[in-house]
Amino acid sequence: MEDGKALKIVNIDNHKFELDEKLLASVLNRPEIKNRKIVVISIAGAFRKGKSFLLGFFLRYLNAQYVRKDATNWMENGGDVLEGFSWKNGCTRDTTGILMWSQIFLHNKGKEKIAIMLLDTQGVFDNQSTMRDCSFIFALSTLISSVQIYNISSNLQENDLQHLQLFTEYGKMALEKSAFKPFQKLQFLIRDWACAYNYKYGAEGGKAMLDNYLKISENQHKELKGVREHIKSCFYEIECFLMPHPGLKVCTKQDFTGQLDLIENDFKLHLNDLIVSLLAPENLRIKVMNGQQILAGELITYWKSYVHALAS
Ligand code: GDP
Repeated sequence: MEDGKALKIVNIDNHKFELDEKLLASVLNRPEIKNRKIVVISIAGAFRKGKSFLLGFFLRYLNAQYVRKDATNWMENGGDVLEGFSWKNGCTRDTTGILMWSQIFLHNKGKEKIAIMLLDTQGVFDNQSTMRDCSFIFALSTLISSVQIYNISSNLQENDLQHLQLFTEYGKMALEKSAFKPFQKLQFLIRDWACAYNYKYGAEGGKAMLDNYLKISENQHKELKGVREHIKSCFYEIECFLMPHPGLKVCTKQDFTGQLDLIENDFKLHLNDLIVSLLAPENLRIKVMNGQQILAGELITYWKSYVHALAS
């Protein structure tokens, strides 16, 4: 893998938020990056639910596809240690704030020049964060990203939607009133999907499950209706992917470092489908603000203004 590391762009210290503008600019203002259209992929959700583990595979794919320019057998290329965003077995928190991967991946689609950036967020809902900390992190990363992955364990539940409503309401405070929807793409990702007999693993099962879950009906309680209407009105696209369990060795073996032969095949197959659906050249989503595609260098101003608006 190319050299890269996780950089802490947003720090939370004693419930105060700080953006490291210099660090952000040192990456996004590089001459080979700043004038490219930017794709921002972020992942959010409770801690210890496999976010960083997944990002390790994202990096493996991105390196194969956009650095070595050959994504055949991308999963096998990288050895037995899954590198990338800090992740490890156990249950102590290892990430605080918002992290950005220092390596930005470049892609040329004809004349269009694209840069791809990855974000990892602090575990939302851990026992050290207040609801305001969580709302801040979720709202900011959703405002900045072109795809926000909402990582959820085992099943989608009403309180996941309620949290989403709270966070997106908070995020909307950073925006001027406009005719555009505030956020771009929301990707629900259900890990260890518990009901494969009702909806099968993958994007298709996810879509059927989500369509059913977000359905608005006449005799529904107005609170349930309101949450669903709100979420639909906030995002241009909402998708859902149902992941199988990776196998017990992934969660229980102390010396598990990412060895592929210890991961269930079904998980690896769906991991490939998920990653291609998000990161393959034909599926990249460029960041759009108020109807305009954004350049990497321009994103710095947005980070600053959103942090300012949400933190004050
Ligand atoms: P994060 O805090 O959300 O970034 O979680 P990590 O990526 O650090 O993973 C926490 C633990 O969950 C590690 O032991 C992983 O090996 C394990 N893990 C990774 N993916 C999955 C998954 O899909 N299901 C389960 N049950 N465990 C996973």
